[in-house]
Amino acid sequence: MNADPLELQKFAELAHRWWDPTSEFRPLHEINPLRLEWINARAPLAGKNVIDIGCGGGILSESMARKGATVTGIDLGEKALKVADLHSLESGVQVRYKLIAAEEMAAQEAGQYDVVTCMEMLEHVPDPAAIVRAAAALVKPGGHVFFSTLNRNPKAYLFAVIGAEYILRMLPKGTHDYDKFITPSELSQFIRSAGLEVQGFKGMGYNPLTKIYSLNDDTSVNYLVAARRPLEA
Ligand code: SAH
Repeated sequence: MNADPLELQKFAELAHRWWDPTSEFRPLHEINPLRLEWINARAPLAGKNVIDIGCGGGILSESMARKGATVTGIDLGEKALKVADLHSLESGVQVRYKLIAAEEMAAQEAGQYDVVTCMEMLEHVPDPAAIVRAAAALVKPGGHVFFSTLNRNPKAYLFAVIGAEYILRMLPKGTHDYDKFITPSELSQFIRSAGLEVQGFKGMGYNPLTKIYSLNDDTSVNYLVAARRPLEA
């Protein structure tokens, strides 16, 4: 199984706080509108069949459903999925949540999705390339795949680990393991090896003075990548 039990445990301990915008999940709540609009601009979500890999409590999944997509959210965190289900009942925004590995889902529902998203998850798994391959299998020819993760370099260590966990204390200590960060060139390699085409990168920045996140062209710490499965000849 391509999952680290310690990683899943970390998220299980916080699971009841997924939808508290002042909790450890605050950064995800704050970046969500930015990534949602970025995705929606590249792949208009209304009417699309979407799968969100590593959906957690459903912050992105629900927001994509609100845009009119039919959304499936998958994760290996049982508690997160329970929270996600409850929130969806409360909000009335329907999402299909499933406790299943991405690779298993790819075997069951290959080529079914217009859009595949996998945000802030690759840096928590033992074999991220296998998740990228699963995403590539899930998407339809011509469909879109979006990933986000953390770059690996001294600046990323300083900002994402020391800054976020120790100085600003935005995230619990130990949230991120520097060794698992992925450079854009490594991720591009995974994407191309999986048979997808890289469409473009976007950086995500945080200003600790204004406490505002924004998308920019600096991919040195947090970044997103858009990919596409070519149309079959
Ligand atoms: N994608 C969501 C949540 C990111 S937090 C968002 O951006 O809002 C990372 C999530 O990855 C957690 O919910 C955790 O349970 C999940 N995760 C970690 N390892 C996983 C694995 N091997 N398979 C599926 N999900 C995993």
